[in-house]
Amino acid sequence: MKARIRKGDTVEVISGRFEDKGKRGEVTKVLPKQARIVVQNVNIRKKHQQQVETRGRALSAGIIEFEASIAISNVMLVCPVCNEPSRIGILRDGKEVQRVCKKCKAEFD
Ligand SMILES: [Zn+2]
Repeated sequence: MKARIRKGDTVEVISGRFEDKGKRGEVTKVLPKQARIVVQNVNIRKKHQQQVETRGRALSAGIIEFEASIAISNVMLVCPVCNEPSRIGILRDGKEVQRVCKKCKAEFD
């Protein structure tokens, strides 16, 4: 499961929070140890920012939006060839690792 999703891949959310289900986005961060990823525009959280003072200037307080990580098991990789969320197989050819879409059988890096 580890190497199947990489930074820059497009994934579709298949389970998890209702409002994110079916959403697609680009993977911006992979956290292999936690088996979690950060996906653009998915799992948006709001953080309230306290008013901070820097060199006598007060920066305005407000709400910061950021993307929180989600479990890798909640997403499916979208195949770059058939554009469908699909299960991915791994093909090893010496040191080269190719990923294979189980739907259209296309190979890609
Ligand atoms: Zn495919």
